[in-house]
Amino acid sequence: MIEINVDKREKTYFILLVIVSVLLIVPVIFMLPVLLPLSLLVLLGQGLLIGHVKGNGVRVSEVQFPEIYKIVVKQSEQLGLPDIPKVYIMESGGVLNAFATRFLGFNYVLLYSELVEVSYDKGRDVMEFVIGHELGHIKRNHINKKLWTFPAQWMPFLAQAYSRACENTCDNIGFSLNQSGAEQGILVLAVGPKLAKKINAVAFYKQQYTETGFWVWLSEKLAYHPHLSKRVRLEKDTFVIGGGLREKEEAVLEKEMEPVVNIEDYSKYLPKN
Ligand SMILES: [Zn+2]
Repeated sequence: MIEINVDKREKTYFILLVIVSVLLIVPVIFMLPVLLPLSLLVLLGQGLLIGHVKGNGVRVSEVQFPEIYKIVVKQSEQLGLPDIPKVYIMESGGVLNAFATRFLGFNYVLLYSELVEVSYDKGRDVMEFVIGHELGHIKRNHINKKLWTFPAQWMPFLAQAYSRACENTCDNIGFSLNQSGAEQGILVLAVGPKLAKKINAVAFYKQQYTETGFWVWLSEKLAYHPHLSKRVRLEKDTFVIGGGLREKEEAVLEKEMEPVVNIEDYSKYLPKN
């Protein structure tokens, strides 16, 4: 089994979610006449989604995309999952995405075909990172934890903060399973597969310290995923965000702060008298 670097904030925000949910228990009881039909609608929606995926998606197995199935089986073992989740691939109209969900006790992973195509182009690494990230949500039981703290999931800022911490943990898990795939995977999400080959990963990572301000802050605080510049994991300068292993980050930032072009180099272009 691999070591799992859980973002420390995930545990803190989960405790806060539990506390807020308990505090909201009385209003929830009063709202049961509204909440019960609402939960039935959510259940119905989830059931229809799973039905749609099962009927239209392509189920990954030993005979269907076996190379992807092998990754799922291997990583499920590495993460110590009790069961191998059901994995489906679906056409996505160009959207690069994947998600894990749970319905009536079964775990599902849905991979959008565009992301699978990109991963095939880039080789096994990105695929391993993407699948590892989604299996991470199952390993950490994120779907159930969000469900059972549903009263607090309405709280703006807190629900998003917990979700972002969960995403960090799953990026860490994906990174542990494939470091090269983690770097490339996030860069693909940022600029698409072609430009990802050209992007300066360190400069993009450093952007989180230079592109700052109120609106940047607010847009992230209301988002369920961290900003992509914060999600970049640099393959050659290993560190794990939020996991207490940041010592190498200093070295990365200092290295990048050195001037790229030496001013003295310009002297040869100056007119000589
Ligand atoms: Zn995720």
